[in-house]
This record gives sequence, C-alpha cells and structure tokens, in this order.
Amino acid sequence: MKIFGLIGYPLSHSFSPIYFKKKFAKEKITNVSYESFPIATIDEFPSLIRSYPNLGGVNVTIPYKETIIPFLNELDAIAKAIGAVNTIDVQNGKLIGYNTDVHGFSVSLQKLLQPFHQSALILGTGGASKAIAYSLKKLNISFLFVTRKKSAASSSSLLTYTDLTSDIIKSHFLIINCTPIGMFPDINSCPQLPYGALGKEHLLFDLVYNPEETLFMKKGKERGSAVCNGFEMLVSQAEKSWEIWSATCFD
Ligand code: NAP
Repeated sequence: MKIFGLIGYPLSHSFSPIYFKKKFAKEKITNVSYESFPIATIDEFPSLIRSYPNLGGVNVTIPYKETIIPFLNELDAIAKAIGAVNTIDVQNGKLIGYNTDVHGFSVSLQKLLQPFHQSALILGTGGASKAIAYSLKKLNISFLFVTRKKSAASSSSLLTYTDLTSDIIKSHFLIINCTPIGMFPDINSCPQLPYGALGKEHLLFDLVYNPEETLFMKKGKERGSAVCNGFEMLVSQAEKSWEIWSATCFD
C-alpha cells in the first residue's frame, strides 16, 4: 500500500483528502490511500517521514510551503525559482520538492485571457502570490503587488490599497486576489479596491473557492467584468501532483 497525504496546520477544512479519496474510488486506483497529516510545527516532519516508510508523496499547505524547503533533498527548477513547495515526491527515501500551484493557476487563467490582459495587480504578498507572479512572468504579463503595509525598503512594484486610484485600476485589466479576504466564514468582506473603476475589460481572478462566488467576484460582475474563482486551479494543481507521484510510485 502506497500512502500519500497532506501536511499543514490546521487541516480541518482541506480539499485534498476528499478529492483524492473520490479520485481513487472513481478511477479504481487501488492499494493507495491519502491521509491528513496535521503537524503543529515543521520540526515534526522528519519523524513523520520515518513513521511512514511506504510514503509515496505529500502535498504541503499553509503554513509550511516555504519552511519545508530545508528538509528536502532536491527542488525542481520551478519550486526553486519561486521559493515555495506544495508537492513532495518521495523516491527511494529522497525528497524532491515541486510547485504545482503554478500549473494550476496557468491552466485556469489561460482559458480566460484576452489580448488586452497585459498588466495585472496581485493582491497579497504571501506564498500563493509568488507562484502567481511566476506564472504571469511566463505569460509575459507585467504586474504590481498590492500589500497592506509597505516598509521603507519596499520596491516601486509594491503598492498599498490606499495607493489604488481609479487610473491604476483602469490600467490593470487583470486583478488577482491572493489574500484570504472573502473566504468562508468571512464572506461579506472583499479587498479594498475602487470597484467603480472596473469595466468590461477586467478579469477578476480569486484564488478563494469557498464560497463559489466571493464578494470580490460579485462586485466585478456588477461592473461587467469577467470573474473566476480558484476551484479549477485547485483541481489542476492536485492532478499535477498525482501526475508527478504516479510517474514513479508504481515502479
Ligand atoms: P498566505 O501566505 O497567508 O498569504 C496571504 C497574504 O494575504 C498575506 O501575505 C497578506 O499579504 C494578505 N493578507 C492576509 N490577511 C489579510 C487581510 N486580513 N487583509 C488583507 N490582506 C491580507 O496565504 P497563501 O498561501 O498565499 O494563500 C492566499 C489565499 O489563496 C488563501 O485564501 C488560500 O486558500 C488561497 N489559495 C488557493 C489556491 C487554489 O488552488 N485555489 C492555492 C493556494 C492558495 P500582505 O501582508 O502583503 O497584505
């Protein structure tokens, strides 16, 4: 029996365990299981690895996507460039880190892109925003980050929410929410934007997928903008993880 799983903390509302259980049943993939491994600190990771000699791989979620890196033997080129890992492949005791959020986001975004989506605003500067920035670079879309608080050393590609004028909104047709604002149960909140400046050319992409339509998306729709939640990204990153694991785990 090969074991796969998810590390993070807390894991009570995680999507991956249910997704993989359903996938294994639907596709009749036998002799495998997918478990939740809630670890309260990343220092528990080595003993977890020792306790499961049949581990084929794990997904990594909040808050360990960056702090997991020193525990790994290798990083693939994308994970290295981003500095964040959400998938670990275990090959003969060797731990190799990947980032499949990039793939998930690109698959979902590319279907919606129009030629005028040349510049983006990335809301939030956490782990997911780094994968999104990497994807945008590959797609030749320029971007600025938006943060709650700038430090004196912040670069000019970093804005605060109070810097966001109507003109800035009108010159960035792609806006990506990489913050948890609006996520269940906080469903009546949304990022602080001058929403009145949105129009038909805008595409609002929310990494949040619960609720299906966030307030950020609703406000965009009211102005005629295209919107997308993070569900397809989530499914695509999970499928990419499985592709990595299944290429080696059944040898
Ligand atoms: P994270 O590392 O905690 O970063 C979130 C960032 O959002 C923070 O760095 C912060 O940036 C900003 N932020 C946090 N709380 C805020 C608040 N109350 N108001 C305004 N800004 C706030 O989380 P993450 O891993 O990047 O994930 C971000 C969101 O994306 C989460 O909701 C997560 O569930 C979702 N996500 C979805 C997928 C998917 O497949 N759909 C994949 C990954 C993540 P500043 O300090 O710069 O303001």
